[in-house]
Order: sequence, then structure tokens, then C-alpha cells
Amino acid sequence: MKQLIKNIYCVGRNYRLHVEELGNDVPKEPMIFMKPSHAVVPMDGSKVVLPEGRGEVHYEAELVLRIGRNYEPGISVDDLVDVMAFGIDFTLRDVQNELREIGHPWTAAKAFLNSAPLTPYMAFPGTEGVAGEDFLLRKNDEIVQRGNTANMIFSLQQIVDFIAERYGLGEGDLIFTGTPEGVGPVADGDKLELAYGGRVLGSCTVQLGSGSNS
Ligand code: MG
Repeated sequence: MKQLIKNIYCVGRNYRLHVEELGNDVPKEPMIFMKPSHAVVPMDGSKVVLPEGRGEVHYEAELVLRIGRNYEPGISVDDLVDVMAFGIDFTLRDVQNELREIGHPWTAAKAFLNSAPLTPYMAFPGTEGVAGEDFLLRKNDEIVQRGNTANMIFSLQQIVDFIAERYGLGEGDLIFTGTPEGVGPVADGDKLELAYGGRVLGSCTVQLGSGSNS
């Protein structure tokens, strides 16, 4: 996380069972939105302050790719990505539903401060390698999400090609690659823990409301 983070792309609706649980249609091309770099906080066991009074805040556990070099057409995702992490794409779900109805952008629902906690980076084992293990999200020691990148609607290669061609992709960019089924709300004091390959990679405790009152 010491490395500079440039752009943060996120893929929506990239796992079929998650698309179904929210009653959405399977997209025909990758659905991309963005978060500002200010959204990132380390999942190092500390508290994460999230908005209170704006409806439900949902967790979405996701594989996060870090782009290690500038994109060129034809490059494989395995050459393009140097490290990966896991992260939570926190979402104000009620706000998102309202925005969707009135056709407004998702910024208010997705891009708020601290909306992108991130575990430490680990080496990227390649597209095949990363699918060799499931990733898990535990809430208060109970598994609430289990995902495997083999179940993605759009592959990692399709995602990086699409983003690069439309928006540009270079060193220091992050991609949140979408969440599997099992999303749900957090409450004040909830402990969230991300694990992959039998190893806990990061955790945080939710604090709803202002972080300034002590
Ligand atoms: Mg997401």
C-alpha cells in the first residue's frame, strides 16, 4: 500500500449468483465504475469508519489486481498484473437503489471515504493459479461470502482489455474484480476478515458514524 495508487476501477455484476441475489440482469459487457484513491484504507485490524444514517452499508468481498506496467494491446493479464490483494467494495445499498431508479451515477453509493479496505499485497499467481483457491469473507467469525474467480462472468483478461481500451490502464492502477453472492449489511462493531488459501490476509472492525468523536 506504500506504492502510489492511481486509478481504482471496479467491476459490477461479475458473478452470476450475485447478479441474481440483487435481482439484476447479467450485463453484456463489463460494468465499470470507479472509486477515488481516498477510499482505500488498510485492513490491518484497525477500525474503519463508515457512513451512518444513509441506509444499509453492504460488504462486497473482491479480488483486487494491481497493474504493474503500462498496458499494450495483446499483453496477457498474467504479465500485466504484478501483485494482488483482497478488498471490500463497501456499498451504500439503499442509496445505490435510489440512484439506479433515478438514473444517477453511483458515486454517492460507492465512492465514499473508507469504502475500499485492502489487505496487504501478495504475488499474483496468474489467472489459473488464483482460481486454485477460494477467497472467504468472515463476519464475526462466520463465513458470509465464498468466491472463486473461475465463476466470473467476464474473465480477468476480458476485464483488463475492456478497461484499457475504453479508459486506459497503467502501472499503479487497481481493479476490484466483482463480488460473489452473499453480500449483506454491516452493523457497528462487526469484525470482517478476508482469507485466501487458508490464510487470513486482513481484518477490520466497522465503526458506523463519525470517527472524530472520542
Ligand atoms: Mg462490488
